[in-house]
Amino acid sequence: MNAPAKTSKLIKGASGDWEVVIGLEVHAQVSSKAKLFSGASTEFGGEPNSHVSLVDAAMPGMLPVINEECVKQAIRTGLGLKARINLKSVFDRKNYFYPDLPQGYQISQYKSPIVGEGEAMVDMPGGETVHVGIERLHLEQDAGKSLHDQHPSMSFVDLNRSGVALMEIVSKPDLRSADDAKAYVGKLRTILRYLGTCDGDMEKGSLRADVNVSVRRPGEPLGTRCEIKNVNSIRFIGQAIEHEARRQIGILEDGGKIDQETRLFDPGKGETRSMRNKEEAHDYRYFPDPDLLPLEFDQAYVDELKAHLPELPDEKKARFVRDFGLSAYDAGVLVSERATADYFEAVAKGRDAKLAANWVINELFGRLNKEGKDIAASPITAERLAAILDLIAEGTISGKIAKDLFEICWSEGGDPRAIVEARGLKQVTDTGAIAKVVDEIVAANPEKVAQAKTNEKLLGWFVGQVMKSSGGKVNPQAVNDLLRKKLGI
Ligand code: ADP
Ligand code: MG
Repeated sequence: MNAPAKTSKLIKGASGDWEVVIGLEVHAQVSSKAKLFSGASTEFGGEPNSHVSLVDAAMPGMLPVINEECVKQAIRTGLGLKARINLKSVFDRKNYFYPDLPQGYQISQYKSPIVGEGEAMVDMPGGETVHVGIERLHLEQDAGKSLHDQHPSMSFVDLNRSGVALMEIVSKPDLRSADDAKAYVGKLRTILRYLGTCDGDMEKGSLRADVNVSVRRPGEPLGTRCEIKNVNSIRFIGQAIEHEARRQIGILEDGGKIDQETRLFDPGKGETRSMRNKEEAHDYRYFPDPDLLPLEFDQAYVDELKAHLPELPDEKKARFVRDFGLSAYDAGVLVSERATADYFEAVAKGRDAKLAANWVINELFGRLNKEGKDIAASPITAERLAAILDLIAEGTISGKIAKDLFEICWSEGGDPRAIVEARGLKQVTDTGAIAKVVDEIVAANPEKVAQAKTNEKLLGWFVGQVMKSSGGKVNPQAVNDLLRKKLGI
């Protein structure tokens, strides 16, 4: 899985091409009501220190008790990543001091994680599929938060997040560009959201990544990497990689060498800067947490969870291509969110699926994006969009009128069929009525009629005039036929 990148992904340096190599450690907050080892709430945005149990505050003598829901979510995520599930895993203490870590250690998993190797398939816009190896997934506690801006001379601490369950998903160094990495995180987010194991809300910190970057000449062994900590948006992940790769190439081309170090990304400047180097690196003195037994379950438990997994994005995409005849690209766009895929299916069922895909992707998404709305907040329900498509299919309205109707439904609401009736939007199929309009236009433009006899291109002009004067409500083909007869061409 260490194949050299396609030439297009290489970065041009002053002395030739470089390949960037990226591996991500993604921290995903587990969707669960309670924390990993306590019953305190995981709800976002409470008053500081309002969701803190004695365990989370590390009061002496308090003992952690594993929350089975978090274990299930980690297993389900592992299954979604086609990964090996370890029937026995161990919780370790990772020792370090930090003001927002009252225990003085984080409970994590080190040598024996709950989930082993797996894989994610990432479709790139150009049609390439990047296979990203998953190294492991382990469960660990989140830390609290220091508040430095509440008082002129003191820092405060908020322990609401302390003890919330995180899944750390570690990829192999299989990514070869900022775009690869961004698409991988997007795909991971989609899978987690389908599974309901993490809400993927990056603004709330539910998903963040440590980004490992190195560069090498194509074909050479892996270079020394730097780790950029805690990047919390997909766009920033891309910017951090671009900047870091350039920085490393600059050093190497000047004859220097890369120091393995931990760096921070500054979104304001678009730069990474050093946080600590290898000499300052922590020695965490991992050891199995004596307060917790090894985590054990049997295969039947895993099989039961597997049997109840929802249809995942890759399978859904394959089904959309197979059953609806969609292009891989359109299917990929439609399955990126479960709610979108459901909406599309409701519209497409029993109808022209390609037309349905066009309407959902172009009209609906276009409108939703413009207003920054989620599909759940769409003023046009799947049922109503389906009604618009039915009106087109029956020949009641033209495609052009359908777009106007969509606008009306979007801004004013209401049932499409009723709107067509009430506003007289029906396509005129009565040839007598069409002929009347054609006659009027022909009579009013004798010069153009004469020209049309020698220049057929003018036919288009006549069609346009008829469409315009009928408000787009006539069938263009019928207009064409009538005009040809009338003009004798
Ligand atoms: P550690 O445990 O010290 O953080 P790991 O070997 O577990 O180190 O790797 C952590 C992450 O760094 C993984 O996502 C891995 O893919 C990535 N990684 C390892 N070596 C490199 C490298 N040379 N270049 C880029 N990423 C790398
Ligand atoms: Mg690491």
